[in-house]
Amino acid sequence: MTDSTISGDIVPDNIAPDDNASNTNTPVIQALFGGTFDPIHYGHLYPVEALARLVGLKQVILLPNHVPPHRPQPEASSQQRLEMVRLAVQNNPLFTVDTRELERQTPSYTVETLKSFRQEIGEQHPLAFIIGQDSLQTIQTWHKWEELLEICHLLVCSRPGYQHQLSTPEMQQWFEKHRVDTPFLLSQKPHGYIYLAATPLLNISATDIRLRHQQGLSCDDLLPSSILQYIDAHRLYRQ
Ligand code: ATP
Repeated sequence: MTDSTISGDIVPDNIAPDDNASNTNTPVIQALFGGTFDPIHYGHLYPVEALARLVGLKQVILLPNHVPPHRPQPEASSQQRLEMVRLAVQNNPLFTVDTRELERQTPSYTVETLKSFRQEIGEQHPLAFIIGQDSLQTIQTWHKWEELLEICHLLVCSRPGYQHQLSTPEMQQWFEKHRVDTPFLLSQKPHGYIYLAATPLLNISATDIRLRHQQGLSCDDLLPSSILQYIDAHRLYRQ
């Protein structure tokens, strides 16, 4: 992997778009992808690119989140995380960046952010929130998680090391009730479905990158070189 692929089409050729997803009469799904992005890495970018191809997403809005003072703080400041996100996608037309969570002084509960997007796009427009498989496994710990599917769909990217089964029979039942295997259906309803996408498995985490960088190990294959340069220039992740 090199970062020269980041501005172009980085989805492996063997991932075919859903035929119906490119139909011009199909409503475009508004897709959001939230994260701490401390720092943003290929494990965020590549699976979401692949997901976009599978589902027919035209745009993905990246939402760096506000981490409230009482929670363990990211090592990079909000401004630095935002700058890295912007740098990572500046030549990639799939992505835009929204700062509304960073601007909040209160915890950035996903459900509240989703409600603000829902208000903007109207009740009928398909809205989706993208998460990794690890987040699906802990979704019952999210603030008002039961309301999520009343506002949006959940698009889940595969992540190595996480089980397909959810943690309790009740959660598994919830998942099965909402799960769809045909991406086309996502554009046919404003909210309420979960789609577990067969995206490329990338064993990359921000925690590992911070640790490797601190230990002087190479991170060249894990994130764009522009982000590595930023990390060095701002002396991030050194202790
Ligand atoms: P950290 O290691 O600091 O916890 P992270 O690498 O998991 O960070 P986050 O910013 O917390 O990154 O993640 C944002 C979203 O991206 C989450 O929904 C997470 O599940 C997803 N994600 C992160 N890394 C991957 C990956 N390698 N594959 C698939 N999804 C991922």
